[in-house]
Amino acid sequence: MKIAVFNDHRVGLVEGDQIYDVTDAVPDAGPAFPAVYMSRLIDQWSRRKADVERARASARPIALSSVVLRAPNPFPLHVLAAPVNYHKHIGEIGARSVSGKSSAVERGFFLKASSSVIGAGEAIRLPRGSTRRFDHESELAVVIGKRAKNVARAQALEHVFGYSCLIDVTMRIEPGKFDEERVARKSFDTFTPVGPYIVTADEIPDPGNLVNRLWVNDELRQDSNTSALILDVPGLIEWASSVMTLQPGDIIATGTPEGVGPFGPGDRLRMEIGRVGSMTLNVVEADEFAPRRF
Ligand code: MN
Repeated sequence: MKIAVFNDHRVGLVEGDQIYDVTDAVPDAGPAFPAVYMSRLIDQWSRRKADVERARASARPIALSSVVLRAPNPFPLHVLAAPVNYHKHIGEIGARSVSGKSSAVERGFFLKASSSVIGAGEAIRLPRGSTRRFDHESELAVVIGKRAKNVARAQALEHVFGYSCLIDVTMRIEPGKFDEERVARKSFDTFTPVGPYIVTADEIPDPGNLVNRLWVNDELRQDSNTSALILDVPGLIEWASSVMTLQPGDIIATGTPEGVGPFGPGDRLRMEIGRVGSMTLNVVEADEFAPRRF
């Protein structure tokens, strides 16, 4: 099942190039703050799934190309992200790295602001007037399905609801000039595109063998496979749940392969995760100058 959020917080199931509106089966779906209805739907999935399937059976198809895809979970409680988690990414950004030679095995995870999440139909907005370097990081996203605390890797995948594509947009440090905290550099509004929808875990029996690719305009920049992850999906859940209670709807960005690089306003980013899907986002400048310039 491919579950999307579209237009003004409608919930839909994607089948081919059509989407079926099942919002009536999702309690409290809508733009009211905080928009936690997807986290709640995921939490209650075992008893809500039949309602969603009934709503799908009576829904008329809408052309996917006619809707705006939003973040498939607009309000995750946590967005976790793995630092260095592909061997060939180690060292490629040189002195701009804050992780040195260690990987997610030692470093675990960091957090991104959940407010940085957007959908596949939205635009990445870079700080207006900036001359800094902004990089794309193409990543498999894991969406947590069941509360997870101290979950060993053997049971980890039982706690996964589904998967999605995710771009971990990052403002780089500049050694000797700029050295902001990582959470700030990765938490600008729009810096975590997720989409185009959540593919439920039953369709992805092995998250450890999925193509991971990203293009800037039509140039292939990143081309790897989740089989090259240093700390795999079960390992990431074991590590993170040893620290904190993962909640339904939480998103884990599993780390980027080699090929990260800069992009700017006017560019178009396309990324693909095998069996999951692909999304294309335009890059623009933010409408307003921030009082603190970057
Ligand atoms: Mn990343």
